[in-house]
Amino acid sequence: MAVLVTGGAGYIGSHMVWELLDHGEEVVVVDRLSTGFDWAVPDRAELVVGDIGDQALVEGVMKRRNVDAVIHFAGSIIVPESVADPLGYYLNNTVKSRALIESALRCGVKHFIFSSTAAVYGTPQKNPVTEDEPLQPESPYGTSKLMTEIMLRDTAAAHDFAYTALRYFNVSGADPKRRTGQSTKGATHLIKVACETATGKRPFMEVFGTDYPTPDGTCVRDYIHVSDLVNAHYLALQRLRSGGGSLIANCGYGRGYSVLEVIDAVKRVSGTDVKVVESGRRAGDAVAIVASAERCFSELGWKPVHDDLQEIVSDALRWEEILAKRNRV
Ligand code: UDP
Repeated sequence: MAVLVTGGAGYIGSHMVWELLDHGEEVVVVDRLSTGFDWAVPDRAELVVGDIGDQALVEGVMKRRNVDAVIHFAGSIIVPESVADPLGYYLNNTVKSRALIESALRCGVKHFIFSSTAAVYGTPQKNPVTEDEPLQPESPYGTSKLMTEIMLRDTAAAHDFAYTALRYFNVSGADPKRRTGQSTKGATHLIKVACETATGKRPFMEVFGTDYPTPDGTCVRDYIHVSDLVNAHYLALQRLRSGGGSLIANCGYGRGYSVLEVIDAVKRVSGTDVKVVESGRRAGDAVAIVASAERCFSELGWKPVHDDLQEIVSDALRWEEILAKRNRV
């Protein structure tokens, strides 16, 4: 019996693979390596290079490895890119998720964990945001993920199938054991960009918007350590296997930091100056969004252990140094 991790060669997916292996699970990864890396998949997991929309390939894997659960990370994740290329996002994130869900049904895979996003809320009316807040995505990225949640809801209502949709807030940091990290080229996410600037990979970074209605004028986000995030998935897997019904839960810590606060943390931890250029607002950005994580605590028994911005930044920085060394050899 194995767990199928889609996107397991990517940032969050590769951390998930390690989490599963650490718990003694058998793992098979399907990843087309468009943004992920084969070296990010540990040897103990099987890597099948292919597209999650290729149903013959995916169903072959599900049957051959006797897959009992899918953890679905594969997809496109950049908000402004989705604004520029909505149809690309609806293809990668929605159409291909539909194919994957159908493959799971055909192969009798009853458990499905989906990487959803806080972007389904848009800018919430109040923070921290609970799962019952109105769903008003402000970008095709958020809409593409919400559409998959809806497909999962309706599939679970019609079939012997249960899912967990975890709505991620801002995932960052790297494996404290240094086995994997955020390696994506051309990354756009704040902590990665700030760490690349601190380690000299970029000469400067931009702050997108300093005139938002927040205490320092920059956007506020809830940054969650990737290791705590993948642990929530592992708990969700156990819950589904023991008959827990479908669930939607936020994954964040319930505390917000502004863009400038994050950059200050990177400066402090790295002991380096980070050159910052103030730019205009970025398309699709919500002003402030912070999770209510109560459901994750109560339903999954989640106990985060890396809830500390300094630790997140320090793990992210250390991974940047590892990547820089790797690229020099
Ligand atoms: N951001 C920024 N400069 C960057 C990257 C991000 O000012 O180089 C800001 C971005 O505008 C947003 C916040 O940092 O307000 C978090 O953005 P990120 O892309 O990390 O995640 P998102 O919340 O969009 O998923």
